[in-house]
Amino acid sequence: MRYSSYFLPTQKELPSDAEVISHQLMLRAGMIRKLTSGVYTYLPMGLRSLKKVEKIIREEMDRAGAIELLMPAVQPAELWQESGRWDYYGKELLRLKDRHNRDACFGPTHEEVITDLVRREIKSYKQLPINFYQIQTKFRDEIRPRFGLMRGREFIMKDAYSFDADEAGAAESYGRMHKAYSRIFERCGLAFRAVEADTGTIGGSFSHEFMVLADTGEDQVISCTSCQYAANLEKAEVSPVSNPAADPALSPLKEVATPDVRTIEEVAAFLSLPPGRLVKTMIFIADGSPLAALVRGDHEINLAKLKTFIGAQSIEMAPPAAIEDVTGAPVGFAGPLGLKIRTVADNALRYMANYVTGGNRKDCHLINVNHGRDYSLNEFGDMRIITPDDSCPRCGAEIEFKRGIEVGHIFKLGTKYSMAMKASFLDDRGRELPFIMGCYGIGVGRTLASAIEQNHDEKGIVFPLPLAPFQVVLLPLQMHDSHVVETSEGIYRDLASRGVEVIMDDRDERPGVKFNDADLVGIPLRVTVGAKSLKSGRIELKARREENGSLLDISDAASGIIEKLSSLNDPLK
Ligand code: ATP
Ligand code: MG
Repeated sequence: MRYSSYFLPTQKELPSDAEVISHQLMLRAGMIRKLTSGVYTYLPMGLRSLKKVEKIIREEMDRAGAIELLMPAVQPAELWQESGRWDYYGKELLRLKDRHNRDACFGPTHEEVITDLVRREIKSYKQLPINFYQIQTKFRDEIRPRFGLMRGREFIMKDAYSFDADEAGAAESYGRMHKAYSRIFERCGLAFRAVEADTGTIGGSFSHEFMVLADTGEDQVISCTSCQYAANLEKAEVSPVSNPAADPALSPLKEVATPDVRTIEEVAAFLSLPPGRLVKTMIFIADGSPLAALVRGDHEINLAKLKTFIGAQSIEMAPPAAIEDVTGAPVGFAGPLGLKIRTVADNALRYMANYVTGGNRKDCHLINVNHGRDYSLNEFGDMRIITPDDSCPRCGAEIEFKRGIEVGHIFKLGTKYSMAMKASFLDDRGRELPFIMGCYGIGVGRTLASAIEQNHDEKGIVFPLPLAPFQVVLLPLQMHDSHVVETSEGIYRDLASRGVEVIMDDRDERPGVKFNDADLVGIPLRVTVGAKSLKSGRIELKARREENGSLLDISDAASGIIEKLSSLNDPLK
């Protein structure tokens, strides 16, 4: 490619609305342009890199036995009504109406469409297992689209759906995708971890998120410093406290007046106690009934864990009126004594003694509260968010908190969609059974943005070779010097004919401009043809990642360049 006949609009200025480095660099390096909030045009350079990510994904999905197809972007509402998600999905679903006033949506994901296809086409266990994938544009009307391609509204996703006849088969399909995903992100040159994620009602370790480690990540990754355990913040298990050696002496229960003192911080300050001596009583509505959940004052409730613990389909904070109704007091004074609703507690409460709770009366708290003596508490479980003070739930070693970007997600769906949509097959004994499904997503644009988030320096992008839009950037430094131009043209032709992806900066620009643009755009290998070194028959070769370049004899330039390239190559090929 020749720069002069290409479209590579670089810019020096820092874009004002780009907060993270990958977004800034993709704009500055002429890879993307914003059309409207969360919606981008992929410029030629950006598109070339996206295609590289897609190619790696395709190769590994094909290797894992998945079959590519392409489903429609616009989906009829009927399918979503059948699965029950038309009402449930909320405002992220972009809803449309056609000329006949029929409801439809722009697909944010494709479980319904693939389940509909499979229930029509696949009838027998002999056709199983099967795994279909596509690479396609999705739309999700995100509340806060941001960080460029990281969280767009319109974005490209690879999504795959597996169908199995039994649990063992489904576990195998899941394992194959786990392996394929690891290869994909490794081949993209990313530092990542596969972490356990919440499976909701499905249970087991059948959901993993693939997290690229980066300080700007929106997710928290918890990992053990000693064993392989890793999970996201929501899923990370907390080990129960062990029994303290001696039973503490129980002090007499007392009421204290706490006028207008409501929050944990206010009560702790008012009583001059650390928040860890307090117990929060939180009122929820679970499947329509009120529920009290108790956690230590310095801990945070984890709604996903609570929901799983109590086995509820839905759970939400109770509105103030319901709290007053249940506790008999205004918000801020709830406590477990005298409550007539199901009350559950986090494991950390099991051996707590002489703690502070609300008094279920306005302006009143209780001190020296003890369960067993003052009220009964029988349901303990893990229902809080892990903290840096906790240890690894598997081996007890120290844990680390890191930030991550979720680039991929694999999930066992079980029979959720096949039951709702009556998708079944006949097994070897002629019984009709629902398919056991799995779904597997990768954000293509998010993967590219994450690669840039992990690979850049103060001058610009430092592309890992497998994702670079071009492998080599060729810089003739003096466009008025015929020797420079002819030599460059010769190298350009040689490289192109040997299948190297090369872009030649043939603009009539100062060397400094060409060097800066080459660094900004981040092509892995730079070849410089300058009048001075050419006099001694040499050109300069420099990897973007390396500090210093080296000189190469022009007599066999193309071979030298190709050799250097192969030293920078794809880790798994
Ligand atoms: P998130 O928690 O980041 O919203 P999600 O759980 O909604 O992600 P999935 O439904 O599992 O994501 O989608 C599969 C993959 O698609 C994600 O792992 C991510 O890489 C990508 N993805 C999801 N939402 C977006 C988005 N708004 N912009 C870009 N990529 C996205
Ligand atoms: Mg989401």
